[in-house]
Order: sequence, then C-alpha cells, then structure tokens
Amino acid sequence: MESAATIDLEHRFADALPDLAVEWAAAPVPSPVLVACNRSLAHELGLDVDWLRSDDGVAVLAGNAVPGGAKPVAMGYAGHQFGNYSPRLGDGRALLLGEVTGPDGRVRDVHLKGSGRTPYARGGDGRATLGPMLREFLIAEAMHALGVPTTRSLAVVATGETVARTHPEPGAILTRVAASHLRVGTFEYARWLDGGHTLEPLIDHAVDRHGIARDDGTRPATALLRHTIEVQAELVARWMLVGFVHGVLNTDNVTISGEGIDYGPCAFMDGFDPATVFSSIDHAGRYAYGNQPAIAQWNLTRLAEAMLPAIDDDRDTAVALATGELERFVDRYQRAWSHGMATKLGVDPDRTGNSDLFDGLVSLQTQARADHTSTYRALADELRGDATALDALFPDHRRDVASWLTTWRAALGGHEPHAVAAAMDRVNPVYIPRNHLVEAALDDAAAGGDLAPFERLLDLVTDPYVERPGHETEARPAPDGFDAGYQTFCGT
Ligand code: AMP
Ligand code: MG
Repeated sequence: MESAATIDLEHRFADALPDLAVEWAAAPVPSPVLVACNRSLAHELGLDVDWLRSDDGVAVLAGNAVPGGAKPVAMGYAGHQFGNYSPRLGDGRALLLGEVTGPDGRVRDVHLKGSGRTPYARGGDGRATLGPMLREFLIAEAMHALGVPTTRSLAVVATGETVARTHPEPGAILTRVAASHLRVGTFEYARWLDGGHTLEPLIDHAVDRHGIARDDGTRPATALLRHTIEVQAELVARWMLVGFVHGVLNTDNVTISGEGIDYGPCAFMDGFDPATVFSSIDHAGRYAYGNQPAIAQWNLTRLAEAMLPAIDDDRDTAVALATGELERFVDRYQRAWSHGMATKLGVDPDRTGNSDLFDGLVSLQTQARADHTSTYRALADELRGDATALDALFPDHRRDVASWLTTWRAALGGHEPHAVAAAMDRVNPVYIPRNHLVEAALDDAAAGGDLAPFERLLDLVTDPYVERPGHETEARPAPDGFDAGYQTFCGT
C-alpha cells in the first residue's frame, strides 16, 4: 500500500460516545521542531515518513494543523488516585486526534499530549515539557522492544515555548499511539455521568474496538471484565519480570487494552527490592514494585464496580459474577509470571517444582539486592562456565547460590547448557533504560539541546538483547547510591 502525504483519521470514539468527548482544538505553538520521530512505527501505521517530517506533518504533530476530516476531542474520565476517587479528571492537556487504520488492519488511537488546556485542565497549564516527553518516548519504545504490551511513541515536537515548572523548561508535545485510550477511569466516569446512560454504549464500543467475543450468553460487560483481567494480569507479570515500577497505577492510568500507559514517574529497578519506589509523591509505597499485582487487582475491582449494573440487573447476582471473575486474577497473574520466569531461566514451563525454584531465586536476589537485569545474563554466563559476573552480584551468598544452581541445573533436564544459555540471552535484556542513563540523556537534551545521548540510548534499549562492544558501561547498574536517592515526578 502506498503511504499518503497526510494522515486519515476517523472519529469513532467521538461519534459513538459524545458524552465522553469534548470537541476541542489544540493551543497553537510558536515554532515547532521535530526532535524525535519513530520511523518504524510510522511505517506500521502506513504513514509517509517524509510527510511526517515535513512542515505539514510537524504542524499536525504540534497541534497547529488538523488533518482533513479529523475531529479532535478531549476524553472524559474519572479515576481513583492513590485510592481516592476523583469524579472528573479527563484529558487536561491532551487530545485524541482520532483513529488510524494501519496497512495491517489494526485500528489505533493517535493522541497528542501537551497540546494545551482543555475543559478538563483544572489548575494545570495544559503543557508538557521536553525531558518528560522524551522520557515517555524512550520508555514506551524500550517496553515495545522488550515485548511488553505498551502504548507507543510516534514523535516528540519541541514547541518553542518555555513552560514554568520548578525551573523554566522547554515545552514539548508527544504523539502517542495506542490500541485505545479507554481506561478503567473511563468506565468509572460513564457510570456516574447522567444516571449511567453512557455505560452500556461505552461497553459496546470497548467490546467492538478490542475484538472481544460476544458469544456463549455472557453479557458484554462480563466479557470485557474477563478480558481486562486477563490482559492486565499479563501486563503486570511482564513488568515484574523486567523489574519495572510504573509509579502511578491510578485507575485513570490502567487501560482496557492491557497496554502500559503514562510513563511519568516510572523507572526500572536495579538492585532487587520489592519495596522499591521512585515516585516523589508515593510516600506510603502504594505503588512499590512488589505491590503492583495487588494494586492491579484493586484497580480491576473498581472496573467491576463501575460496570455492575451492566453485568446483571440483579445487584447480588452481578456482585457474585464480578467476584468470580476477579478471583481468577491471582491465578492468571501467577501463570503469566511463572511462564515468564521459566522462559528467562530456560526451564520447561510445565515442570513441577518450578515455583520453589523461582521463589528461591527471588529470595536470593532480595537478600543480595542483586541487580535484576544483570542477574539473568550472569546466570547464562554461568552455564557457559564463567561465574565471574554471578559471583560479583552475590558476593556474600555464594553457598546459597551454589545450592540454588544445583537445583536449577537439575531442572534444565538433559538440555545442553550452551544452547540453554543462548536461548536465555534471547529473552533477557542486556540494555534497559537505566535511571542514571535516562536522566543524563534527558538533561543533555532539555538543558543542553544535545539529542545525541538520547538517540544513542534509544538505539541501545530498542535492540536490548545483543551485547554491543564498547557499551559495557550502559549494561551496568547505576553507581552506588544513585538509585537510593533517585526520585521521579508526576504531571511534568
Ligand atoms: P497523569 O499524572 O499524567 O496521569 O495526569 C493525571 C491528570 O492530570 C490527567 O487528568 C491529566 O490530564 C491532568 N494533568 C496533568 N498535568 C497537567 C497539566 N500540566 N495541565 C493540565 N492537566 C494536567
Ligand atoms: Mg494519566
């Protein structure tokens, strides 16, 4: 298919759910400059990269021009933020430009973040800044390369404006691409809006959009709840396997698609510790690394509550049905995590005794605060006969590690160690967006106008499994003490 010098956007959400969509225009920006552009994603969407990079394309990415036929909207949603219900959040600084259908037939949202104040802006200025938008670009693309379901980043445009934060910062707009922007909070909002007349149309829209089967007499709401439980269990398991802390798992940041969204205060953990928190406002550790599965289930319970009237007309029956679905979360999560651990360690996922083996490793990692990412590469090295990296990661636990290794080797069955090690290296990354590298690259970009470090890091984390000579430093954890004092921020 020829890619056209424009972008064809539909307005399915805006048409289907006018009560959840406020037609809105982006605030124009003075001098947009394209600072990051995702060629491979543009190809996937059937977009002409030359057009995207042209003045006309950049005008669309900056919100200065609306493609013909598009109907941009700010989406309405509510959300439980740190456990407290906010009945009206919505896109305060973002717009859904519309939906694009790629050459593969997939329908995806194209969304601008940082495009000016909307009716949902509350006290906010509607803007976003360059460092945090490049951060979201980088994390999303790293996630994609790691095979973790995620919203994607198409572009970042510097606006030419200065935005007031703790210090004056360069303004920027991110173009985000997503399977949809339907969140748990969208359903909470629909439930409490105008007597809940929007709830059923929203559920129908979500079920169609995400191709959820409508068979076997199950109501669409129940099918949607089941689907969301499955995809969220899988998503959080994948985060746990790569050592990722989302940081702000409010219900407005939890999608129905199962894609990770809103990479604000998130960060990857170096030394393994379930209590790891980076977000400056998460004082109680609600969204700590080890709490994420339980929080996901809590958020899904809010989704079930919001949809109760659509699950069954009789409230008790609806509660019983929803509870039955929610109870399956733990098993779903455990299965996904356990399957992922089996792959990371090269063992048969169906082998009995896996759970002791996996828990044993997690317990060792926790005791030694061993760097999560390096541990799995070091284990593969050990299989190849080189224990140097593993010894360095567990200097004070060699006896326990030796005993765990004996169990692991037995669990590998008769498989040839070098072949297992090679398979492990194909799923365990060398390069992740380590906090100190991300911060340095964003500082250079935002404060110094130098994008080269950002581009080099993006290049590494989007091809994360192959060790590259000359990039040994980027594979190592942050210097001692860096992560202990590392803080991330929301709403930047
Ligand atoms: P987030 O922390 O990015 O998930 O945002 C939570 C809510 O705050 C959403 O409703 C955002 O649209 C809104 N928000 C965050 N930053 C701003 C801003 N600078 N201006 C307006 N709204 C904002
Ligand atoms: Mg959000």
